[in-house]
Amino acid sequence: MNSRCVSINKILPFSCVDGPGNRLAIFLQGCNLRCKNCHNPYTMGICDNCGDCIPTCPQQALSLQNGVISWNSASCEQCDTCIQQCPRQSSPMTLTYTVDELIAITRKYAAFINGITVSGGESTLQLPFLINYFKTVKEAPDLKHLTCLIDSNGTLSINGWQKIAPYMEGAMIDLKSWNEKVHINLTGRSNQRIKESIKWLANNNLLTELRLLYIPEKTDYLENIELLSQFINSLGESVLVRINAFHQHGVYGEASKWIPAQKQHIDLLSKELNKRHIFNIKIPEIY
Ligand code: SF4
Ligand code: SF4
Repeated sequence: MNSRCVSINKILPFSCVDGPGNRLAIFLQGCNLRCKNCHNPYTMGICDNCGDCIPTCPQQALSLQNGVISWNSASCEQCDTCIQQCPRQSSPMTLTYTVDELIAITRKYAAFINGITVSGGESTLQLPFLINYFKTVKEAPDLKHLTCLIDSNGTLSINGWQKIAPYMEGAMIDLKSWNEKVHINLTGRSNQRIKESIKWLANNNLLTELRLLYIPEKTDYLENIELLSQFINSLGESVLVRINAFHQHGVYGEASKWIPAQKQHIDLLSKELNKRHIFNIKIPEIY
């Protein structure tokens, strides 16, 4: 892993949905889960420069330069044909940034934002870079007021969290199901390490948000409501639980036929958690 360069899928200068306040949101490329319901499946893979996407581009915006895929952003019309064709669930439109380049971008927006959220893909796969970037933010007199948050799938080891903890204000973690087998079916991996991450972050006052994604007939929160509630209650009263509603936008494959979550699904889960003394809950404003 590289501490100096990072592969970035997208940067949003102002986001109000990636943590509290107005935030610079940075989406890193590459993920170690394979969630069937992923809304950005082209952020999962790392490009191997095969060139298969080049002939699919109607604008001739792609080419190979010295064996490396090159994207001409001026010609690109953002039709997304290339990412739909990529066999590795990657994108030819990712860009590589150094810490200095990312700091320069951060500085440009610093006066207008409350903080930075690094998301993905799975941002902690590029942990050395993340540590280097957050550390530089904290040491810069004109940037140190910015809060640094990580939006993560929670698969990072405790050792990894211990390394980044001094440089961040918190992390937002998804628990995509309670049961391990259900989780493996939804994401391709066990949720044991994710539960460990959630516990460790909560014990260290670094769990900004616990996220539950309700997918009708797929997620198992209601079937395991007692165990789930005991787990959430063990994290402490201050933990914010955000319930998200599954929708099909951007989803490929079998999940594109799954039933979207409606208000009544979310209200039912919220009510069941309330009955078990969990009240610090945020639910979607629109469906
Ligand atoms: S983005 Fe995908 S199709 Fe295009 S060169 Fe990279 S791996 Fe190949
Ligand atoms: S999104 Fe991809 S396929 Fe579409 S114009 Fe841009 S580079 Fe070409």
